[in-house]
Amino acid sequence: MDLEEASRLRQHVARLTAERRGVERELMGRHRLLRGSLLERPKFCGKGGCRCTKGQPHSPSRYQPPLRCLNRTGK
Ligand SMILES: [Zn+2]
Repeated sequence: MDLEEASRLRQHVARLTAERRGVERELMGRHRLLRGSLLERPKFCGKGGCRCTKGQPHSPSRYQPPLRCLNRTGK
């Protein structure tokens, strides 16, 4: 990758980041949202002989990982 291409990529990332911030601001203005991620992952009950121990997990459950503490810049 040459310097010109790296510069173009950085500008592209900056534009996308600005666009994302705009969309987030708009969403946060209309709805009450929590900062964080919501993951969906398969469940394994751990009971001996269950199908999940043979590679067939139960229906996925939603999981919200603990929120990180925000620093002063909000990142
Ligand atoms: Zn199971």
